[in-house]
Amino acid sequence: MVDYIADYLKDIRERRVFPDKQPGFLRNQIPENAPVEGESWPKIFSDVETIIMPGVTHWQSPHMHAYFPALNSFPSLLGDMLSDAINCLGFTWASSPACTELEMIVMNWLGKMIGLPDEFLHRKSDSDGGGVIQTTASEATLVCLLAGRSKAIKNYQKLYPDLEDVEINARLVAYCSDQAHSSVEKAGIIGLVKMRYVESDENFSMRGNKLMQAIKKDREKGLIPFWVCATLGTTGACAFDNLDEIGTICYEEDIWLHIDAAYAGSAFICPEFRTWLKGIEKADSIAFNPSKWLMVHFDCTAMWVKNCGALHRTFNVEPLYLKHENSGLAIDYMVRYFCVS
Ligand code: PLP
Repeated sequence: MVDYIADYLKDIRERRVFPDKQPGFLRNQIPENAPVEGESWPKIFSDVETIIMPGVTHWQSPHMHAYFPALNSFPSLLGDMLSDAINCLGFTWASSPACTELEMIVMNWLGKMIGLPDEFLHRKSDSDGGGVIQTTASEATLVCLLAGRSKAIKNYQKLYPDLEDVEINARLVAYCSDQAHSSVEKAGIIGLVKMRYVESDENFSMRGNKLMQAIKKDREKGLIPFWVCATLGTTGACAFDNLDEIGTICYEEDIWLHIDAAYAGSAFICPEFRTWLKGIEKADSIAFNPSKWLMVHFDCTAMWVKNCGALHRTFNVEPLYLKHENSGLAIDYMVRYFCVS
């Protein structure tokens, strides 16, 4: 298999990038039920080239120009092979200490590489910030929307203790630009919150004035603006929302600001592109996809938050069987997201 993979990548430019197949093409070539008797390895292996490959879109081909870059690399493949061999489930620190600790260290490396302020990094003491690997940018957006929702509900309950969670939830409003990725809309659907699509300017950029108008209008209706998603590098045109203007508004209005930099975030490794990051210190969370432009295979989204408290309150579960003697001293990514309390 290793030789096959090496040859596949070496000769990939010879393959047709997009298969000329019709829907259902595989049905006639593979039995309807799983075989009762096992088949020999050579027989199974030969099916890869003769049956599967003709229906594969070759995303790693230099002739592939659809969608967006999603390139892997040999270091990424080899790392994945080792990780598949170890196959540890890193839900708590104790379930595989190196797994959690390596993730924290590398997330700090990557955060520093793209110029994130220290508050987003794992630090030794009294730090609430840090990074975590998510599967996709869509998931990171949803996670941050749900965390922002918990925070808003908690804050409003302090002001209006008689209100039920659902009553507050029904009044919550989130915002993004009319250029935002569909996953932002989906996060609103899953989170059961209204989503406003702020009209972007002539450069497809969401600006502070239009956002502020929308927030004001909603407040006048008795609604609760609680979350904004700014996109740095939109899917359609790689446009950049004005983070500095939006960040100031979110800071003053006490609104969670999430940054979706799924595609273009990798470019912040180059200091000359960090002008688009101006205002980052006012954001609560940011995510980008090393799987898009850093030659790390799919799926891999890097996400950082400045304060893990809201994530912790939103997702914390502490079943007895996951407790360990270092619980509370080490980060348990699954149990507490990444708060050490
Ligand atoms: N956000 C932006 C700006 C994107 O360009 C994309 C994908 O192209 C996504 C989110 C979705 O990314 P993922 O597939 O990791 O959920």
